Amino acid sequence: MSRKKEVKREIKQNKTYCIKTFGCQMNENDSEKLAGMLKALGYTEEDDVEKTGLVILNTCSVRENADERVFGNIGAFKTVKKTNPDLILAVCGCMMQQPEIVNQITRTYPQVDLVFGTHNIHQFPELLHNYLTNGKRLIEVWEDSDTIVEDLPMDRRYPFKAFVTIMNGCNNFCTYCIVPYTRGREVSREPDRIFDEVKALADDGCVEVTLLGQNVNSYGNDLGEDVNFASLLRQLNTIEKIKRIRFMTSHPKDLTDEVIDAIADCEKVCNYIHLPIQSGSTRILKKMNRKYTQENIIERVKKIKERIPGVAITTDLILGFPGETEADFQETLKVIKACEFDSAFTFLYSIRTGTPAATMDDQIPEDVKHDRINRCLEVLHQISHDINQGYQDQIVEVLAEEPSRNNPKRLTGRTRTGKLVNFSGDASNIGKQLLVKITAAKTFSLDGEIIEQEATHGTIDPHDDSIPANS
Ligand code: SF4
Repeated sequence: MSRKKEVKREIKQNKTYCIKTFGCQMNENDSEKLAGMLKALGYTEEDDVEKTGLVILNTCSVRENADERVFGNIGAFKTVKKTNPDLILAVCGCMMQQPEIVNQITRTYPQVDLVFGTHNIHQFPELLHNYLTNGKRLIEVWEDSDTIVEDLPMDRRYPFKAFVTIMNGCNNFCTYCIVPYTRGREVSREPDRIFDEVKALADDGCVEVTLLGQNVNSYGNDLGEDVNFASLLRQLNTIEKIKRIRFMTSHPKDLTDEVIDAIADCEKVCNYIHLPIQSGSTRILKKMNRKYTQENIIERVKKIKERIPGVAITTDLILGFPGETEADFQETLKVIKACEFDSAFTFLYSIRTGTPAATMDDQIPEDVKHDRINRCLEVLHQISHDINQGYQDQIVEVLAEEPSRNNPKRLTGRTRTGKLVNFSGDASNIGKQLLVKITAAKTFSLDGEIIEQEATHGTIDPHDDSIPANS
């Protein structure tokens, strides 16, 4: 990595910080760790970049345009630093795991003071201290790591719900995805450490945890025979004060009967699965290196629905993957109809430099991709609408999360099945599990009214979070 001669800078310490997070929940969880470390060092949050002492850009590299957004942000700090010359600009996250990106920052962006990666996030206080002591730009990125550093302080965004990372990395190498190159190979945390973290969260008043990993279904493969995702779910289910356990993301090829049984048996594990299928065409799935077929998807979804009554299943779809024909697209529509997903995150395939798919022949023209995504959304929205109609007049358990974005007099929260509900209520209800009667079922959300202020766990069947209003 070439480095220009660095000029030592006198730093006046301003112990305030602002973190900008790009990308997924894993990054959000990493930002909570960075905030926790800073608060432990006596820093306080200050979102105004003109006033703050430290800005951290926690970057994502999943999509190429995310890179461009980050470079745009870094570029803007050249001007910010003119009015706030003592500002320290740190950049971390997945993008920094790509040497060519770090080279570009080194060559082109002198306003960046500190660079570190996903594998050495725990070193951040030490790196910051070294920078403050020496005033010289510092770049320290580890290529890989076979451990997850435990017990980092964490400044969580919500007191009543929390992300808990259970593993890092991915071994799958889907041909469109950069993650295995930026997050490295799978490393699982010891189950007892996860248990202790969830137990401590519960003791602090947290009622919902979301277990995070690029592929939670392969949790424990590196830990020995008796540890797997199903056993982890069963272990966490015994923590009394935790009321809801969620997880993401599940790879369809690794969603075993054992995991489905654990979800079905554990009353605290929500009846909701996000199962990204990406395509319904076996031919395209092979090109994506997903290691399952159309038949596998349909069989898994059937099994989930049989075993977990009232379950909601959502998915991710990539439209316009290289070589996708109209016939392949029709196969995807066929699977969507057969599986009746509650909803889907749809993406136009976009080239991600450094992945095998980026250099595949038969890249699909943009207008064809747009046409397919529009037709796909039409089918998906109709299914979402029809499923949501089933919630009309039902009473559901909702965890109240925050004021509604459109109307501060209303609250927003989620059912156990992950449905977004807007309902009347004041801030005193935030963090509570409430019983809400659904008064309007829309395609993307539900409206409701509170009928009971605090739903006691076990009031309703945890595997069917909607009950008839008159029961
Ligand atoms: S499973 Fe595939 S899409 Fe998911 S992180 Fe791993 S390589 Fe990427």
